[in-house]
Amino acid sequence: MPARILSGNAIRDQIYGELTQEIAALAREGIRPGLAAVLVGENPASQIYVRSKIAACEQLGLGSWQYTLPATISTQELLALIEELNLRNDVDGILVQLPLPAQVNAKRVLEAVDPAKDVDGFHPVNLGRLVSGRPGLVACTPAGAMEILRRSGIALEGANAVVVGRSDIVGKPMALLLMHANATVTICHSKTRDLPGVVRQADIVVAAIGRAAMVEPDWVRPGATVIDVGINRITDAAEAERIFAKFPAKLAQFREKGAVLVGDVHPGVAEIAGAITPVPGGVGPLTIAMLMSNTVKAARLRRAHAALFASPGTAPGAVAAKP
Ligand code: NDP
Repeated sequence: MPARILSGNAIRDQIYGELTQEIAALAREGIRPGLAAVLVGENPASQIYVRSKIAACEQLGLGSWQYTLPATISTQELLALIEELNLRNDVDGILVQLPLPAQVNAKRVLEAVDPAKDVDGFHPVNLGRLVSGRPGLVACTPAGAMEILRRSGIALEGANAVVVGRSDIVGKPMALLLMHANATVTICHSKTRDLPGVVRQADIVVAAIGRAAMVEPDWVRPGATVIDVGINRITDAAEAERIFAKFPAKLAQFREKGAVLVGDVHPGVAEIAGAITPVPGGVGPLTIAMLMSNTVKAARLRRAHAALFASPGTAPGAVAAKP
């Protein structure tokens, strides 16, 4: 029986509905959450991502600012901009689109972002909060994958979850989120022995590898839930023919456009799994939705924090900071 398709678009729309109400409530308090996006150089994929993020802000009525900087920028110049954005009160979220050019020290730049404005959840302080189960800003793609699982009613407690990929951006935070949701988590990577055998044990498989169609149908236990984080653009005809041999509609799309998207999971897995996210239209839409959600959350938390530490009398009900 074909798998249930876990549509990210439907869940994104649900989240946007909830955010719209929250943004309206903040507006009544005179607060308009705002996101500053920093784009360096002219990487076409980065340009598309930043444009989509700014468009989402506009759709939801959030403030947004785009900073487009030359590919020749130095680490110091970028740090100066981050410092300026850290200090601005109308900026609640700061997003530095990756990758940065080779001459820029990306780690230093990401660590310079105020953790309270780190809406990508990449700052070590936010990663540390995630490790210890404290509230903080969580990386958008794994947070989005969790929203799909939760809102689709997939049982997590006690489930065997296998995460393939251990990047700081996807694999590691995903594994931590699943662990906090009481799944039993195995993390796999390029040195894992018998990867198909390990994946076959999973009730929930998360593929975040960056290898087109790598997770084959016979790796997946019948009925398992599969979250395909990968986004790979296929432009080679032989590869398209191999992957989509049994999927004429996708092959037709390839022949028409000269390219087609595929996840890290082979399309044939949809015949075996119990539930699966499509590519495109699965985890992708949730990444931007969670960025919007993090921006609203950052706006709320930062003001709650400011009120908490304001001197008595400046904010009604405020608690004075201890010396
Ligand atoms: P990285 O390249 O940073 O990490 C890939 C991980 O996969 C590494 O841990 C690597 O292992 C592991 N890996 C690579 N090859 C193999 C292999 N043959 N067997 C087992 N493990 C392997 O990628 P990201 O985490 O940034 O992204 C992963 C995928 O998710 C990509 O396809 C990317 O496009 C997609 N993505 C999608 C997003 C979305 O919005 N939907 C957002 C972000 C990413 P090792 O550590 O040993 O090298």
